[in-house]
Amino acid sequence: MRELYREVILDHNKSPRNYRKLENADTMVEGFNPLCGDQYTVYLKFEGDVIADITFEGSGCAISKASASVMSTVLKGKTKKEAEKFFEKFHKLITGELKPGEHIETLGKLSAFSGVCEFPSRVKCAGLAWHTARAAVEGDDKKPVSTE
Ligand code: ZN
Repeated sequence: MRELYREVILDHNKSPRNYRKLENADTMVEGFNPLCGDQYTVYLKFEGDVIADITFEGSGCAISKASASVMSTVLKGKTKKEAEKFFEKFHKLITGELKPGEHIETLGKLSAFSGVCEFPSRVKCAGLAWHTARAAVEGDDKKPVSTE
């Protein structure tokens, strides 16, 4: 299992999905993790209540980039309400409040980050893009998101 998780992170770090600026974005929010130096901008395009498109760009460690990439694939096509559920669930996952075996059917590739909870300094790396996207979905896009 561990090996599989590592593969997902390596793959998404090497070939991040939706890694581009979104020209016609409805909103964009910048996120920083000063502890590690991770820095991303998340772009969102809505169609009514649905996240029609979500992209990101920036730089950071493998965990932060892979997390942003997997997030973009998970949230695309979801409603804002569904996205909120994923924000909650992912936060629980990386802080160790969710058992890896629980809800595995809905977590899919997110399970790759279940090991992060064993490394407290990495929790902020994995959570950065999610906090940033959450602020964007909630319309709180006036100031950058910082994990500090
Ligand atoms: Zn990092």
